[in-house]
Amino acid sequence: MLTALSQLGSPSNGPGYLPLSRQMADGDVVKFCQRTDDAWEIESVIIPMGARDKTWRTLCVSSQIGCKRGCTFCQTAQMGLVRNLTVDEILGQVRAARVVFGANVRNVVFMGMGEPMDNLENVVAAITAMHEDCINQIPRRRITVSTVGRCDGIRRLAALRWRRLNLAVSLNAPNDEVRSQIMPINRIEPMALLRDAIAEYPVRAGGHVLIEYVLIRGLNDKLDHARQLAEYLRGLHTCVNLIPYNPREESPYETPDEDTVVRFQVELMSAGQLCFRRGTKGTAAMAACGQLGNLELRRARKSEVA
Ligand code: SF4
Repeated sequence: MLTALSQLGSPSNGPGYLPLSRQMADGDVVKFCQRTDDAWEIESVIIPMGARDKTWRTLCVSSQIGCKRGCTFCQTAQMGLVRNLTVDEILGQVRAARVVFGANVRNVVFMGMGEPMDNLENVVAAITAMHEDCINQIPRRRITVSTVGRCDGIRRLAALRWRRLNLAVSLNAPNDEVRSQIMPINRIEPMALLRDAIAEYPVRAGGHVLIEYVLIRGLNDKLDHARQLAEYLRGLHTCVNLIPYNPREESPYETPDEDTVVRFQVELMSAGQLCFRRGTKGTAAMAACGQLGNLELRRARKSEVA
């Protein structure tokens, strides 16, 4: 069912969000979890934005509980897929951020738990509701859908002809060898196919597709990798978001040192690639990229079933 955000809070249908089960803060970054009717958790992160006053917020929302995509660096992947979120559960994250935390939510990014393209119908319905909400509108140009690289999903989004919806692609590798090692989807849809899908996505004039690149020590952070990445992206309207890796629980990977990150960025930029770097805001709150997913809950639920 498609429900506008403003309608979610009407007295006839309750507060429009689920009860909070946990919240953690690291500075201004807040991760909060809502308890679902079937006793799982929906995780969301509120991130302060704005150069000086930080008065507005980006909300990172989940589209699924868990994820089946199995990226080796990702905490959510450790849970496996539990289920898709409903439209109301997606919208309820925005509502809770506003009502419970008083957050001035300006941007929404589908970068929380789950692969949005694996729940695309509900994600599209939620985006439509946010865009069409006449009281608390979040226009499509302030919404970003981030994908592991499902080419059919990118094309389905493109077919909607929503020119102003932002697309992000979680790339994380300069070549197929590295990407297939850390992102199983690459064994089915290698980087050449992904590049074609990105090229077809309709970006607005002056806009770009965001390329997320988590830098992992010794794996994808060499200068030659930066050159390969620039070559792969040449001719596409893209901007690379470099994210130093945040170690998840029991992770085999490490964060690169500061010098390596800086050198990688400089190499990319000197090859003509637009690029910026995101800090790891929210690491302590386990709210940084690839760090959502309550493994304890998953283990507890598994033992209930056993
Ligand atoms: S990185 Fe994204 S697509 Fe990959 S396992 Fe994690 S949540 Fe799923």
